Amino acid sequence: MSVTGFIPRTGTFTRWQQAMRVFRHGQEDLQQVFARIKENVPDRVVADHHKCVQCHYCVTHCPEGAISIQPNPLAYRGNYHWQPHHLKNIWLQAETGGKLLTGAGNDKAYFSYFDHMVLDACQVTNPSIDPLREPMELRTYLGSRPDALEFESGPSGPILKTKLAPAVQLDTPLMFAGMSYGAVSLNVHKALAMAAKACGILMNTGEGGLHADLYPYADRIMVQVASGRFGVDHDYLRRGAAVEIKIGQGAKPGIGGHLPGEKVDEEVSRTRMIPVGSDALSPAPHHDIYSIEDLAQLIYALKEATEYTKPVAVKIAAVHNVAAIASGIARAGADIITIDGFRGGTGATPLIIRDHVGIPIEMALAAVDDRLRQEGIRNRVSLVVSGGIRHSGDVAKAIALGADVVAIGTAALVAMGCRLCQKCYTGNCNWGIATQKPELTARLDPDRAAERLANLIRGWSLELKEILGALGLNAIESLRGSRLRLRGIGLSEADRRVLGIKNAGVGA
Ligand code: SF4
Repeated sequence: MSVTGFIPRTGTFTRWQQAMRVFRHGQEDLQQVFARIKENVPDRVVADHHKCVQCHYCVTHCPEGAISIQPNPLAYRGNYHWQPHHLKNIWLQAETGGKLLTGAGNDKAYFSYFDHMVLDACQVTNPSIDPLREPMELRTYLGSRPDALEFESGPSGPILKTKLAPAVQLDTPLMFAGMSYGAVSLNVHKALAMAAKACGILMNTGEGGLHADLYPYADRIMVQVASGRFGVDHDYLRRGAAVEIKIGQGAKPGIGGHLPGEKVDEEVSRTRMIPVGSDALSPAPHHDIYSIEDLAQLIYALKEATEYTKPVAVKIAAVHNVAAIASGIARAGADIITIDGFRGGTGATPLIIRDHVGIPIEMALAAVDDRLRQEGIRNRVSLVVSGGIRHSGDVAKAIALGADVVAIGTAALVAMGCRLCQKCYTGNCNWGIATQKPELTARLDPDRAAERLANLIRGWSLELKEILGALGLNAIESLRGSRLRLRGIGLSEADRRVLGIKNAGVGA
């Protein structure tokens, strides 16, 4: 891509404005003004490509609308097999001899199962419900449910005898996916926390710890414990509404993380509890977990540390054997399993891993829900899914496939301005999102961003109510795992078997 058009250097543009202002106030004649403009304005366009991350910030904010971005006619010439990006990547690696990094989620044209499933609607004998006139329940609980409820009789009716596991109430079956402070700016974390509080949902710290500015929102924050243990201490665990052990992430299954030292400023260092300027390396495995028994030990250590008052989640990437892994996690005592599909976003990952490792969230979710039901342990865990959720239709389909709650990451960033340029790993995010540079982070107003996030959550929640009404349901609970309300279009028999749905045109 190339940037064309007049690109005023900020200083030059300001001087030009000042010159015109002086002229308008009659303090200079026109000839003097033109002389000053000529002196200051460069006679040719100078683009600083080093700073460009193709995020469209300049196009969006140019006060003159003078910038456009067009395909570069001299870009690599590809063919059907050798696409331009293959050629470019080979050239880059031949230059550097290193791994290619990228950010955001997998953008390959892999088959989208969400786009090949459609929802049912009521007609005639099974009337739909008007969500404007009838109450609709979206409230959802995250946590383990007992196998059965026991009651004993009391003076004014039955009293629940069963001790319930701790659970977090969400006003709508949505939450924000884990994004670490360090990978994203503090303003992003503040916006997510404020929006989570306003909407009665959860945000997730990711692996970077909890900044003190977020303490007032901690009852709406899931705190994460990852392999690097950044920012983890007793106080951190105690503050969160729930604790999540991160084993894997959809964008980079099986590998660790790396926050470059230049992103570790004073604030990040204090929050992560590491020295300023040091690389924050998360190992690929947790060095104390090599079996389900080891995982169970960490789950119960965290439960002990929080006095059994908070649900403990385990986050894994969607991989081939995900159903068996989830079964082990449920048996290890987790209250929540988060499954992140291969389209999940990230601040930085090797390109080759992001684009070629992992499986779609739709398949992983269907397989996990099926396995847990077959084993009679589905009630023991809530399922949170994430990884490329684009709209409330994806949310409804995920819930029909068996999810309790759907987590959104990329969609939340887009609501704050992200243009999916995939250059998060450079630290030069011009939208003030995936950066720690003060001149860039200042561009994101956390109050305005929180408002936009809350609007998005409210909009999707309203749409979920519309969908429920069309399905003749008045509670999201009734849609959960109800695969009969889904039909496949253009799916193979094997796909439909894994998804557990019928083909469109096949009746009940
Ligand atoms: S967060 Fe910023 S750098 Fe990352 S994809 Fe979005 S706009 Fe680009």
